[in-house]
Amino acid sequence: MLKDDWFTVRQIDDKTFAISELGHWEKVHSFLLLGDSKAALIDTGLGIDSMKRVTDQLTTLPIDVITTHVHSDHIGSHGEYTRIFVHEDEESWLTNGIVGLSIEQIRANTARDITIPIPNSFNPDTYTPFTGRPTGLLKHGDVFDLGNRKLIIYHTPGHSPGHITIFDETKGYLFTGDLLYDETPIYAFYPTTNPVDLVNSLEKIAKIPNINMIYGSHNSLGITPDILNEVKLAIAHLKDNDLVKFGTGIHRFNGFSVQF
Ligand SMILES: [Zn+2]
Ligand SMILES: [Zn+2]
Repeated sequence: MLKDDWFTVRQIDDKTFAISELGHWEKVHSFLLLGDSKAALIDTGLGIDSMKRVTDQLTTLPIDVITTHVHSDHIGSHGEYTRIFVHEDEESWLTNGIVGLSIEQIRANTARDITIPIPNSFNPDTYTPFTGRPTGLLKHGDVFDLGNRKLIIYHTPGHSPGHITIFDETKGYLFTGDLLYDETPIYAFYPTTNPVDLVNSLEKIAKIPNINMIYGSHNSLGITPDILNEVKLAIAHLKDNDLVKFGTGIHRFNGFSVQF
């Protein structure tokens, strides 16, 4: 497999790659999906180093960048690609800048707790998240046909208003972005998040049939779909106890946790 100083590239199958930033505390994963006629890149990482250096070595197909949501750890290398897609509810964040987090907070979070050598090109004092116009806007139910590989877009707000989950119907992979991952709490506790939307979105993805594997954007690479049974129990618990609101804290379940 490809060796890189900053990114860890792992092959999920012959046409699917995880491109991870494991030297950073956020343990961010981006995903490259190859079809017969084009490729999809789900997010572009932290922007500490060049994602395109990696994808250029993995495919010659044209790449559509699909944005799970407009947070700085998911759009870092967007500027290296020409075709970028984002949900319509976060078009303005992509074009004008992220709402809810100050540039000082973003810079501090991006530069801290890095355990491997940082590329010389990265300067934490001047780091600025990508802004630019998308090629196209996404809404719930949209389909990407990569050529014998079909991706379906689910609008799953809560962590952010235009957050999407991508279901690779052909392979049965569900890419959940920051809606569902393990190890550290899912964030829904600051002004641009919405606990009610987050729970509704979890309910929505728990109903998707024929999921073989779940890929969140942080921490473990690959979660087995039986976590969705736990998600259903968690939703019932949170609703029954009137916990789906800001300030109720961290709720821990078997395999994941949520912070409101
Ligand atoms: Zn996020
Ligand atoms: Zn994230």
